[in-house]
Amino acid sequence: MQIKTAEFLMSNTDLKKCPEANLNEYAFIGRSNVGKSSLINMLTNNSGLAKTSSTPGKTQHLNHFLINKSWYLVDLPGYGYAKMPKTLRAKFKSMIESYILKRTNLVALFVLIDCRHPAQKIDIEFLNWLGNNAVPFSLVFTKSDKLGVNSLSKSIDEYKLELLKYWETLPQIFVSSSVKVIGKEEILDYISELNKIIDAG
Ligand code: GDP
Repeated sequence: MQIKTAEFLMSNTDLKKCPEANLNEYAFIGRSNVGKSSLINMLTNNSGLAKTSSTPGKTQHLNHFLINKSWYLVDLPGYGYAKMPKTLRAKFKSMIESYILKRTNLVALFVLIDCRHPAQKIDIEFLNWLGNNAVPFSLVFTKSDKLGVNSLSKSIDEYKLELLKYWETLPQIFVSSSVKVIGKEEILDYISELNKIIDAG
């Protein structure tokens, strides 16, 4: 899929204020600094579309973008901020959870994982929560340029083994690098295929 237009639509904390749920929607989530903004910018050919993690405020909102005037891309706030006060953390958790569970046009969620890090409890808990709630998701292993070929495949294999402790089958897995432009075509083609299936049905 070629990205011809990518427009920022709105940023808010309230599911009810999101754009009308009349287009297919794909959301991206991951822990802070995982490379989410860079991935979104790579996918949309727009180096400034998703602000970097340091932009105050933006990281704590649901950010909607309209792509090719035909589908929504959503930049979700990161989960599991260790440094965040407990009450605020609970507020974000409930905002993210209610978005994921109630957004009727959400087709799939892309969960970003830094390929250098072993599976962490908070990620596994989040993935298991998605599974328990039958939320379709894919994994994206980011920053793949930071590892050599062997270390990368070892790291991903170890992650898969960890997942197989809880899951019978593995989700769709993508590997990306915003620096070397890896994974772009695969992710966009996957979205395009899902759009075709849904729009045909
Ligand atoms: P976010 O907090 O998840 O939105 O992460 P950012 O996209 O702001 O990236 C966090 C840091 O990781 C920045 O310093 C980026 O330059 C760096 N980064 C992001 N993606 C990649 C990547 O694919 N390769 C490398 N080497 N660095 C990356």
